[in-house]
Amino acid sequence: MGGRPVNKLCIRCHRVRPHTAHGLCNSCYSTVHYPYEPTGTGSGGRGVEKSAAALVGRLGDFHQYRRVGRTVVEASRLVGISSRTAWRYEARRKAEISTESTSTTNDQGETCD
Ligand SMILES: [Zn+2]
Repeated sequence: MGGRPVNKLCIRCHRVRPHTAHGLCNSCYSTVHYPYEPTGTGSGGRGVEKSAAALVGRLGDFHQYRRVGRTVVEASRLVGISSRTAWRYEARRKAEISTESTSTTNDQGETCD
């Protein structure tokens, strides 16, 4: 039994609403405990941006090597990443491939550049 929200007077917004916890309704509870944090528009994040771009570049190179038939370990050496990182890339690559193949029914594959 239980699990059904009980209507109570919320201590924050003073309205009778389904009670969540600590005398707060659901929306007040989430506002208090999970306050919205603005993500900002990129002030002072240059170092992060740079490394993210480098990571995307390495990921692209890794994909390219894998596409031409290199093993994960070979590709990791060529790109200059650890094999542990390479396997993480590989997992992401496989996830992306499966997402593509399920979302589209295109059997043509990739077009040539
Ligand atoms: Zn409330």
